[in-house]
Amino acid sequence: MTTWPIGVFASIDAGLGVHFDVVRELKVPTIQLHAPHAATRTAASATAFLKKCADAGITVTAVFGGFDGESYADIATSARTVGLVPEESRAARVQEMKEISDFTRLLNCNTVALHIGFVPHDTASAEYRDLITATQDLLDHIAGNGQQLNLETGQESADHLMQFIDDVGRNNLYINFDPANMILYGTGEPIAALKKVGHFVRSIHCKDARWAAPDVRGTGWGQEVPLGDGDVGMETYLRTLHELGYTGPLTIEREIPQDPERQKADIGQAVRLLTHLRAKILGS
Ligand code: MG
Repeated sequence: MTTWPIGVFASIDAGLGVHFDVVRELKVPTIQLHAPHAATRTAASATAFLKKCADAGITVTAVFGGFDGESYADIATSARTVGLVPEESRAARVQEMKEISDFTRLLNCNTVALHIGFVPHDTASAEYRDLITATQDLLDHIAGNGQQLNLETGQESADHLMQFIDDVGRNNLYINFDPANMILYGTGEPIAALKKVGHFVRSIHCKDARWAAPDVRGTGWGQEVPLGDGDVGMETYLRTLHELGYTGPLTIEREIPQDPERQKADIGQAVRLLTHLRAKILGS
């Protein structure tokens, strides 16, 4: 694969990603896939989807897990509902994530990804230790499929995320870096965070956002905006990735599934911006 192929976050049957038809129309060569529901995670649907991808010249570079009951309505709700952190749903979600890993293998893809949730701050607490154990169990299953797990950034500071990865102590746990999430959740300046965790970054999102007002930062959302219109600084972001030696896909994420026309237009604009910046930075 060439350096920095453009990508987009897409869906088969549901979820936050764009429809496959839009990916094809925009001629984007790679996708990260929002994992489909259980009924669709069959060998037959994997084969059919791979054929669609092959016909359109599209490579699946990661499959993102997501679960019923998750809500990103506000930061407090996200903390209560997202990922493997909520204890009442953890065992079922670990099991479902293992099944998503198995489906990902059917797609010939070596990367699964996940919002793990708000990792508890107290690293001496039982809830932190339990989350470590559950994550290790999941990673061992994923390793059996020859895969890595990339954790989405945003819900933790860079330092806390690195501490967690270190404490899990497995060699197939990496990072999907999303600069906009650092801003949306108010967890840290994204370029500084990227420099801290860069050696663990195996995939990325190209998404942009504006900071929440200082008095609500960390408790109230920032605002997601079209790529290039926010506070990330796309050229600086890409130059920093280049310095870190990142050569993987530039996967555009625009999370407004309620407005598909706008989503498509914004992604088209993002493709043009990234194509321009890639040529400027790589000279090709
Ligand atoms: Mg993201």
